[in-house]
Amino acid sequence: MNILVINAGSSSLKFQLFNMNDESVLAKGKVERIGMDSSLVCYEPAGKPEEQEVAEILEHTTAVRKVLQMLVHKRHGVLESIDEIDAVGHRVVHGGESFPSSVIVDEDVKREIRRLFDLAPLHNPAHMLGINAVEENLPQTPQVVVFDTAFHQSMPAASYLYPIPMVLYRKHKIRRYGFHGTSHAYVSDRAAKLLQKPLDQLKLITCHIGNGASCTAVWNGKSYDTSMGMTPLEGLMMGTRSGDIDPAIVPYAMGKEDLTLGEVNSMLNKHSGLIAISGISSDMREILEAMEAGDRGAKLAFDMYEYRLRKYIGAYAAAMNGVDAIVFTAGVGENSAALRGAVCGNLTFLGIEFDEAANLSRDRGERRITTEASRVQVLVIPTNEELVIARDTHELILARTNVV
Ligand code: ADP
Repeated sequence: MNILVINAGSSSLKFQLFNMNDESVLAKGKVERIGMDSSLVCYEPAGKPEEQEVAEILEHTTAVRKVLQMLVHKRHGVLESIDEIDAVGHRVVHGGESFPSSVIVDEDVKREIRRLFDLAPLHNPAHMLGINAVEENLPQTPQVVVFDTAFHQSMPAASYLYPIPMVLYRKHKIRRYGFHGTSHAYVSDRAAKLLQKPLDQLKLITCHIGNGASCTAVWNGKSYDTSMGMTPLEGLMMGTRSGDIDPAIVPYAMGKEDLTLGEVNSMLNKHSGLIAISGISSDMREILEAMEAGDRGAKLAFDMYEYRLRKYIGAYAAAMNGVDAIVFTAGVGENSAALRGAVCGNLTFLGIEFDEAANLSRDRGERRITTEASRVQVLVIPTNEELVIARDTHELILARTNVV
């Protein structure tokens, strides 16, 4: 079975085509600058040269059509016909309380995703464009939606409620949802395999540290608490997002600096975090380079970033009354030995015996960076959110076929 995985943003569309017989990637790529003057299409078919094309792509339907043309192209295509695509799986950021797991798209599901636009105004409308674009191009092909929030629906009320008037939860569903769920679920599963222990008997802390960053307490295979909240702004310090701050700063800063709500929102989401403290970049690579060159702003940004992550790890070890393993994943988590070293070097009280040589190794695969004797294991596991989406889609479509 071939599954096309789509991650639609407001002006971009990323895709990967999987052959689920062996879970291999047949092709992947992205369409960027949809709706702008010149869109860019990047296409990487397995075992064939990469293609890039500048085209006029004004909306998502055209972007999907372009992707399908690439996939069946005479020279660089990987399929004979688009009929070989058996199903399409979409990433959807917000499933609210309605979706504790992935589902096959139907009219009710689409209505519910639309109802959730308010909770994720930057993401869900774009995903909907992707779903509709596929429907227009492949009307007979089943679609599945996989939610970033679904894995965290297992959080107990004590984790997901905010200590504010309950009416806000009851009337407006203001609560913590958590994000990066597919990634936290994937690396937890892989961690159990690496540790050769059943997932439902493990206490894990998974750290997804990319441009956006979140940390999850995974207790017996279920999300027990996670650092992102109602929106992806809460929790850890990130590239351009503040993470946790005193909420009273918002009205205070608005008054002092004469800011509008929109401006303060943009300040916290786009002009805070690493970029705000370093004044240099939101990219950890540039922070590390500047730090090595002696830049004090970069050093302070790194120290704050690491300290805030370490505090969450400590909190989640307390939340679960213990921890068996800590997992690092995503752009920074997978690649920055400096961050992992700083975090783990300061967590020796947990019983971490760090293996610095393994931490510094150029190996890019799944690996342990603690000694065998270490009471708490630390693992680096490259995430694969697209594969989770493909697997969920595959499973749901197979189950439906078997029922019918
Ligand atoms: P996204 O949240 O956009 O999916 P990624 O998980 O791809 O982000 O992470 C992107 C971030 O990873 C970049 O901003 C960069 O800071 C960081 N990164 C990538 N490679 C390295 C590296 N070698 N060292 C440190 N940080 C890195």
